[in-house]
Amino acid sequence: MKTQFSLIALIILMLYNFLPLLAQDKYEQERANMVKWQIEYRGIKDKNTLDAMNAVKRHLFVPPGNMSNAYNDSPLPIGYGQTISQPYIVAYMTELLEVSPGDTVLEIGTGSGYQAAILAAFVNHVYTIEIVKELGISAKERLKTLNYDNVEVKVGDGYYGWEEHGPFDGIIVTAASEYIPPSLIDQLKDGGRMIIPVGSPFSVQTLMMITKKGEKIKTTSLIPVRFVPFTRQK
Ligand code: SAH
Repeated sequence: MKTQFSLIALIILMLYNFLPLLAQDKYEQERANMVKWQIEYRGIKDKNTLDAMNAVKRHLFVPPGNMSNAYNDSPLPIGYGQTISQPYIVAYMTELLEVSPGDTVLEIGTGSGYQAAILAAFVNHVYTIEIVKELGISAKERLKTLNYDNVEVKVGDGYYGWEEHGPFDGIIVTAASEYIPPSLIDQLKDGGRMIIPVGSPFSVQTLMMITKKGEKIKTTSLIPVRFVPFTRQK
């Protein structure tokens, strides 16, 4: 009887000590559900993309007041009139980019840094440019705190790309442009891909895939999307 009692006491003590450790990332379950029902269920299959969506703590990329909505099936405001994209769109664009562990990627539109972190979880290096200074600075700090050491953030107009680090295996643009900035095409590697929303900033745009093979540039229209506008530095 006595040994039974001490065994129960021991189990309670162990649970008491270990449960908080298990609950450390209390959003883990929400993230797993997001990946299952919003992403895999809609047809995303690429393992690198799914693993990254499972690993990156999206709730740390949204304003503190909105953390409990971080895993919702929607975009969320991040300040300065900008948004972090819906999880499915992030996964869809990541899969389409078809980049792999040795690759270098350029992102235009850092925003919160979430898309950059997703890519950084499995590619070699991510260069990302943000035009809103405050967003660029806070994304840089966030990514540093979270140990995404293979991401470099620059504040500036992404229209011109980032020539000294190019050409890139993949270029991802997360703001809607009326046309494809020519320097971005120039900075795409032979065999590389670009994913970019193209169209009027005030209506629905088309997500486009641009591939480069030698001198040949191929453009494919994918799905209708709605992104914040690609702005220019005056
Ligand atoms: N990828 C982001 C979503 C960003 S929303 C994330 O994961 O959170 C698009 C971002 O593009 C905004 O922050 C906006 O300020 C930025 N942007 C718009 N035009 C730009 C430009 N010309 N160069 C760089 N960033 C730009």
